[in-house]
Amino acid sequence: MSNLATLAAQATRSKEKAVVVFSGGQDSTTCLFWALQRFQEVEAVTFNYGQRHSEEIQCAARIAEELQVKHHILDMSLLNQLAPNALTREDIAIKELGDGPPTTFVDGRNMLFLTFAAVLAKQLGAKHIVTGVCETDFSGYPDCRDIFIKSLNVTLNLAMDYPFVVDTPLMWLNKAQTWELADQLGAFDYVRTKTLTCYNGVIADGCGECPACQLRSRGLTEYIASRDGAAAQ
Ligand code: ZN
Repeated sequence: MSNLATLAAQATRSKEKAVVVFSGGQDSTTCLFWALQRFQEVEAVTFNYGQRHSEEIQCAARIAEELQVKHHILDMSLLNQLAPNALTREDIAIKELGDGPPTTFVDGRNMLFLTFAAVLAKQLGAKHIVTGVCETDFSGYPDCRDIFIKSLNVTLNLAMDYPFVVDTPLMWLNKAQTWELADQLGAFDYVRTKTLTCYNGVIADGCGECPACQLRSRGLTEYIASRDGAAAQ
């Protein structure tokens, strides 16, 4: 970024503080860059719920360190106790197609994450909670929908008597548009090479086989095609 652009970004940056719910994946890393451009102070929170791959936590910690963002890792292992699922148990296969919710589903997971993030945010004096939930390809997770986030926002404010704002910069974007946003934030290469979305724990372009990799690479291909198409005109 040029000096002028840096100054402009700082000038428009809000004095407010934000906590980003952060997993080290494409979506939440894009949200982290979004928050860094927008807010004066940003911290990140990662939930450890016994993910299949501890690589996910390490990846999140590495990114937070590189971006010089204070990183909180909260133990949420009780989630696995409540609802064993394909993200935490090696013996349950990941399956997202067919009837019923995907096997990666944990009832109320985002609700719990956002609620714990809110408790932390209030302690840190942060008004904004940023999350990468998305309704466009919400894959059957009801607590990723916009109406739920708005409802929870009201509930959190009432529960803690605090003026939280839950920000969802990706809510109406598809995967290609999420890549576009990363590019606009000057973070395209970073997100592409440093984040972990793959269910098999493979960083960057991933294993290429799992549903998360397929979704990510479809969006990437689509975005690159549209960008190059626009550049050629
Ligand atoms: Zn994969």
